[in-house]
Amino acid sequence: MHLQSFGAACTVTGSMHLLTLQTPGGERRVLIDCGLFQGDDDLEARNNEPFSFDPQTLDAVILTHAHLDHVGRLPLLVRRGYRGAVYCTPPTAALAETVLLDSARLQVEGYRQELRRARRQGREHEVLEPLYEEADVHRTLALLRPHLEFGETLRVADVRVTPGRAGHILGSAYLLLETSDARLIMSGDLGNRESGLQLDFTPPPAADAVVLETTYANRTHRPWPETLSEFAGALRDSIRSGGKILIPSFAIERAQVILYTLKGLMDSGEVPHIPVFLDSPMATRATNEYFEYGDELIVPVREALQNGEDPFQPSTLHVVPTSAESQRLNRYDGPAIIMAGNGMMTGGRIQHHLKHHLWKPSTSLIIVSYQSPSSLGGRIVAGAETVRLMGEEVAVRAQIHTIGGFSAHADQDDLLAFLDTTGRPHVWLVHGETAVMDAFVPVLHGRGLKGDIVPDRSAVDLLGPGFPAGRPPGLEIEASSDPARAEGGE
Ligand SMILES: [Zn+2]
Repeated sequence: MHLQSFGAACTVTGSMHLLTLQTPGGERRVLIDCGLFQGDDDLEARNNEPFSFDPQTLDAVILTHAHLDHVGRLPLLVRRGYRGAVYCTPPTAALAETVLLDSARLQVEGYRQELRRARRQGREHEVLEPLYEEADVHRTLALLRPHLEFGETLRVADVRVTPGRAGHILGSAYLLLETSDARLIMSGDLGNRESGLQLDFTPPPAADAVVLETTYANRTHRPWPETLSEFAGALRDSIRSGGKILIPSFAIERAQVILYTLKGLMDSGEVPHIPVFLDSPMATRATNEYFEYGDELIVPVREALQNGEDPFQPSTLHVVPTSAESQRLNRYDGPAIIMAGNGMMTGGRIQHHLKHHLWKPSTSLIIVSYQSPSSLGGRIVAGAETVRLMGEEVAVRAQIHTIGGFSAHADQDDLLAFLDTTGRPHVWLVHGETAVMDAFVPVLHGRGLKGDIVPDRSAVDLLGPGFPAGRPPGLEIEASSDPARAEGGE
């Protein structure tokens, strides 16, 4: 039972794990997730590298959930020769369509923009082709097999696969993979048991090895009631100052959590009813899937849906479909909440709202998701006095509020609770920064568990002895990341 990770090894992005499993029918190669690297230029450059394996040699692909950093290179895998099945849960298939079509559009738009710029500089030959286009996405969607149901075992490439509820976003699953001689759990991304719309993850069964995400393995999230009152306080302060309230939001899960929370705070009178503009067609499309799969959500949401109510619709909600209408919002007078993507402010409609409002002291910017240090949002959180937006320097004079507790990721207590029912597995750490995983290894050792950091790209024997001190030889020790910036996480 071997694992080779080509993404989310010593980093939190680009999830892609190749499993080599022995079955009665022979060796099988199963790819778990095929995500896009998102972040700084060095990370994103990895998207253009050739795959370190021949896509045609894979027996199957299984997706844990539909976040771009778990599905975003799938159309590239298909473009480079993969023709087999891609297994996932039904909501993951529905959301993956929205996510991948949007990604293809961004790839093509980015390419055209870069080409125009490069032509003016006489270096158009340097511009890289888009990773994939819409036609590649349609070929990919045709391979999706939404046959995974929580708690039901499916045979995939001679391996018994049983998904469990991961509680991270709609449709998210962890996977139990069983061969004749071993049981392995791939955690995917696990949910924060305190926040959001998702039910808690279901306790996993016993296993010989667990490959565990560790995004927030070194910290504990603020309790949910505190997060709610912090958010309500930020909104009330912002409304008093009379300006626009900008909430950059990722389209899947975070946008729905914020809409649901806003509705609750307004209905209960904790926050005045002011107009809410949802300026994200992708979030609007994704919200439809939350209606479709409402049975998967927490009880109050499920009950509201059963009563024919819309739990994601504050009474003052306006949906902004076109970019012309989005531009017209710049001339809207009076206080209003504007939710727009993307969540890290590196692109999308939020950019023109920032350009028009970030320089005004009456504006409030409420940050509810992870901001990577190199992103525009990360620079604003770090206290930049000016930022470059759509070709202009813009002063940062808005009030900045950072609300951390909306994270959709498990914290250390959640991760340990997840391991509680798994017996005494060898725990292999992925999807975390090295410093975070380094801090978590001794916690595992303290519980009598073997814990090892999965190296980038090199194969490890999941049933083997692991590494001295829990880290692969030659792994550089990173400076500890600033947890205040690592809020949210996707
Ligand atoms: Zn995720």
